[in-house]
Amino acid sequence: VTCLQLVDHYLERISSQSHLNAFVDVYSEEARESAKLIDQKLSTGNAGRLAGLVVGIKDVLSHKGHELQSASQILKSYKAPYTATAVQRLLDEDAIIIGRQNCDEFAMGSSNENSSLGPVLNAADNSRVPGGSSGGSAVAVQAGLCHASLGSDTGGSVRQPAAFCGVVGLKPSYGRVSRWGLVAYASSFDCVGPITKSVEDAALLLEVIAGADQFDSTVSQKSVPSYSSALSWNGKARIGYIKESLESESIAPSIRRNTQELLDKLKREGHDVQPVEMSLLQYLLPTYYILTTAEASSNLSRFDGVRYGHRSEDSRDLESMYKLSRTEGFGDEVRKRILLGTFVLSANYYDAYYTKAQRVRRLVQEETQRFFEQFDFFISPVTPTTAFKIGEKSEDPIQVYLADIFTVHANVIGYPAISIPNGSDESGLPVGIQVMARPFEEEKMLAFTSYLS
Ligand code: GLN
Repeated sequence: VTCLQLVDHYLERISSQSHLNAFVDVYSEEARESAKLIDQKLSTGNAGRLAGLVVGIKDVLSHKGHELQSASQILKSYKAPYTATAVQRLLDEDAIIIGRQNCDEFAMGSSNENSSLGPVLNAADNSRVPGGSSGGSAVAVQAGLCHASLGSDTGGSVRQPAAFCGVVGLKPSYGRVSRWGLVAYASSFDCVGPITKSVEDAALLLEVIAGADQFDSTVSQKSVPSYSSALSWNGKARIGYIKESLESESIAPSIRRNTQELLDKLKREGHDVQPVEMSLLQYLLPTYYILTTAEASSNLSRFDGVRYGHRSEDSRDLESMYKLSRTEGFGDEVRKRILLGTFVLSANYYDAYYTKAQRVRRLVQEETQRFFEQFDFFISPVTPTTAFKIGEKSEDPIQVYLADIFTVHANVIGYPAISIPNGSDESGLPVGIQVMARPFEEEKMLAFTSYLS
């Protein structure tokens, strides 16, 4: 098949599956033009490593000249003035960008219900959420609307929707992939990561997008291994699992059984599988939500009605323009987080919340580091339940926050983690399993997960 045929195939799929609402923008003509160019390159034998790979990108990644909305009304009609490094690196290797994918507004959410562009439907069961915030990106891969997607993961947004949709989601170590051109949610947590059908594809995409970047000083200078050619695992792994993570009441029995069965199987295969007690587990979510809302309130202060997107028609003076533009432009969840973040950063509460959360962050890092002296990997469920019904949890935001319990750990401490499909529950909904490794040990993590899958 030619690249052009591939693009036409995906364009046809996107339009026949448009009820899923996975894409918010499709670059039909542009994708077809680049496919023709790449077909020419292929015929002369000088095409890039991703030639013919048709990719969708989450609506938080800049792509020069294309709209970038973060699924928010405040950025309506805004066009990106430059291209994100991760996206540019895909283009440089001749990947074809087919469109922009729906997500929770400013990547805040776990169900895609916070998008101002409408919910995304899980292709396994259209009455259920795809997870979030990279819901459109996960569904696009699940439903065969593109080959792979690029999402962002601040507290699970690549791994959790991947688990709900039965695909692979990889969150690299903090600083492995440049954040240049990624709309900031919580800068010390944000990571760009691929969503794919297989571990092999995730490895290949990571090796293309990772590595030093003059535009992002938080990116590591470490060289990038050839992840995709190191995907074999032999030998025994030392695996830890957090004891409470399997015993807690709030975990669905099917998820517990699924994780337990995998751990038992690994034991039978001779791997060293041990429970650990993580004394700081109960502090993970509060730490995550205090620090991310604090960072978000600061990052989102740039949307003031002056520099980007929406400006209120009804403003009378400068102050009312700020207020009205922000009130009209931001959705409820984003407003809530800005308020929370402003509160934890306010002079009277700064030490009680922000400083304390930073200290706990350090303690979690130290405790986890101690565990990893004895283990190669941590294995856990990705989520406490399988995909829930659309609307089911909208009345209970705390329940939604609690569902991030397994994924936020990796972001709080900057470790890499991956979610891979691991069967399904009794009603046939996908179940994922999470593997977390030491910082910058993606190579090992990918080799091991390719052995698992
Ligand atoms: N669900 C988490 C949140 O709402 C994670 C989001 C993300 O990783 N972007 O913050």
